[in-house]
Amino acid sequence: MENCIFCKIVTKESPCAEVYSGEHVLAFLDIGPIAPGHTLVIPKTHYSNLWDVPASLAAELFTSMQKIGGALMEATRATGMNVVMNNFPSAGQVVMHAHWHLIPRFDGDGLFQVAQQQYASREAMYDMAAAMQRALQP
Ligand code: AMP
Ligand code: ZN
Repeated sequence: MENCIFCKIVTKESPCAEVYSGEHVLAFLDIGPIAPGHTLVIPKTHYSNLWDVPASLAAELFTSMQKIGGALMEATRATGMNVVMNNFPSAGQVVMHAHWHLIPRFDGDGLFQVAQQQYASREAMYDMAAAMQRALQP
């Protein structure tokens, strides 16, 4: 994919601080880390977002994240880790090459402090579940 910074990292046209390279998966440090050790895990092929990534890659992505996540926690001495994927600009996706953020966490580090909302009523909550069940119908 032309002009995709992550594709250029895969082909080594652009540099990265590589952490792991597997058959179809690459991991490198995020250049603007939320915390030191913040790592990006990407498929080596260009897919835009979660829905474009083929299910055949799921097992390798998942096991890579487990392996890299373990190494990240060991190297940073983190006591927790978030796995975050932003899909579409509304969700904060800036680089349109599917990727997962692995973010080291520590007790009391204050990251991701987002207030939870409440449904207007129990009924509103069950209506939402029903709407999603309808959307799941083929
Ligand atoms: P997102 O907002 O989910 O699209 O995240 C894109 C991430 O890619 C951001 O956290 C950036 O800091 C990171 N990023 C952008 N360019 C590079 C690069 N050349 N090397 C490493 N990380 C990058
Ligand atoms: Zn790409």
